[in-house]
Amino acid sequence: MAHTCHATGCEVEVPPVMFMCRVHWKSLPKRLRDAVWEHYRPGQCDDWNITHEYAEAARAAVRHVAEKEGRIADTSVYDALDPKGE
Ligand SMILES: [Zn+2]
Repeated sequence: MAHTCHATGCEVEVPPVMFMCRVHWKSLPKRLRDAVWEHYRPGQCDDWNITHEYAEAARAAVRHVAEKEGRIADTSVYDALDPKGE
């Protein structure tokens, strides 16, 4: 399965280790990028086991980009995978 940028509505293909395409990743404030990396676990893209902290960081990043672009953020994948629920 192709892995695409996690920004809502973006379909740029990126390596699984990358959370977003270069353009979207660069548009994130450093604190959001750091939070995503801090909670990222290698292999999570294959087994879908993410931590609650990662889900929070990912949602914050996706919302940030969507807000900038005037879109409704789609964070459903994180809501579904978040072990604690939102
Ligand atoms: Zn993107």
